[in-house]
Amino acid sequence: MTAKKTVLITGANKGIGFETAKRLAELDYFVFIGSRNPENGLLAVKELNALGYKNVESIQIDVTNSESIKNAKVTLESKIQKLDVLINNAGITGEMPQNASSITLSNLRAVYDTNFFGLIEVTQHFLELLKKSDEPRIVNVSSDLASLSNHKNPEYPFYEAKVTAYCSSKTALNAFTVMLSHELKNETRFKINSVNPGFTATDLNHFTGTQTIEQGANAIVKYATIGNDGPTGGFFDDQGEIAW
Ligand code: NAP
Repeated sequence: MTAKKTVLITGANKGIGFETAKRLAELDYFVFIGSRNPENGLLAVKELNALGYKNVESIQIDVTNSESIKNAKVTLESKIQKLDVLINNAGITGEMPQNASSITLSNLRAVYDTNFFGLIEVTQHFLELLKKSDEPRIVNVSSDLASLSNHKNPEYPFYEAKVTAYCSSKTALNAFTVMLSHELKNETRFKINSVNPGFTATDLNHFTGTQTIEQGANAIVKYATIGNDGPTGGFFDDQGEIAW
């Protein structure tokens, strides 16, 4: 297999994940396009191949399915010696509305299964392979809606968006970023950060986002490729640090 740097992106068959895959392929990384639906993964690879990127391959991974995560790990281990970057991008919003007083536990659990528990299970499975890299990076794709400081600030543009399951699952994801980066701070040159892509037009919001996917991928690419002097355990967008 290739000596290029390697990256696995979950939910990379479309949206911000797909654009991130394209950008990292452009930077000469070997990109594993995580897709829960294998056909959609292959279509994404085909699209990137047609643009001239041959350094991409799809891999089936459903972040809510332990068997699928295990299989993806075995597949990757048979192909590469080390994983340089893991981008935990797969995410869902869940059914709306999500008022705190009435959201169903099944809705809450489904959102947490993907955005929080799934992300942790994927990360734990790929840590060993990441530890073999000289410069391992993990980007946990979060949201400014995760910020409790934003939710306390009436001036925050999305102050009214108290989307209980989605927002709190991303807050929990941010807590995981803090815990894991702290645990690994002395062990290797890990850089583990939460990144907010910003309000981006994708399926997730029925294309109501005000940014393009190119803009949405900017901060993710930046923290996926950050140097050894870069931060770890932080929460960022393309403007800089975000309050927790
Ligand atoms: P998107 O176009 O809906 O893409 C979401 C991706 O996640 C799809 O590839 C989807 O796969 C995948 N996914 C969902 N559940 C999965 C599962 N169980 N296993 C594996 N993959 C799964 O949305 P997006 O806007 O690009 O979102 C990407 C990330 O950015 C998400 O974490 C989202 O929360 C975050 N974000 C987005 C915005 C925004 O404004 N768009 C803002 C802040 C944060 P399928 O195609 O199979 O459904």
